[in-house]
Amino acid sequence: MAENIKHWPGTPLRDADIREKKVLLTEWHPNLEYAWDSGIGYGRYFAELKQGRIIGTKCNKCHRILLPARVFCELCFRTVDQWVYLKDTGTVNTFSIAYTDSRGARIEEPQIPAMIEIDGSGGVAIMHLISGVDPWQVEIGMRVEAVWKPEEEREGAITDIKYWKPLQEGDK
Ligand SMILES: [Zn+2]
Repeated sequence: MAENIKHWPGTPLRDADIREKKVLLTEWHPNLEYAWDSGIGYGRYFAELKQGRIIGTKCNKCHRILLPARVFCELCFRTVDQWVYLKDTGTVNTFSIAYTDSRGARIEEPQIPAMIEIDGSGGVAIMHLISGVDPWQVEIGMRVEAVWKPEEEREGAITDIKYWKPLQEGDK
């Protein structure tokens, strides 16, 4: 099989080529601007997050809550029926104690990514971070509540929730 691969002749790049400026090194700073339409479902979902609320949609045929909100039920192949506000409390379905960040770099203080089943969602979980607790105290089934950014810092993204912390008795 290897015999069939065409090998194109070339000259390997040497350090000397760079030092002697035989190789042109340039930096490219493209001015790229683009717009992204999040659509009706995600659009409102993000707008509601900016207001400190979690919203989903409901399909009255299969009775599912769709979260993040979507306008079309892919199981029933039909338009959903209503918007549904959900609580900003939930239950830890599963979690991990991660000593690497999202780029794979080692971090001293672990992050706790978790799947959090949102109250009132009928079992839908979203991925987010748990904080404000000793990582080794986190358990599956732990009740948690959202810690929102201050209103003026919110920008209409899931990161408007800073993290989830253990729900204190009597909080919500
Ligand atoms: Zn449905």
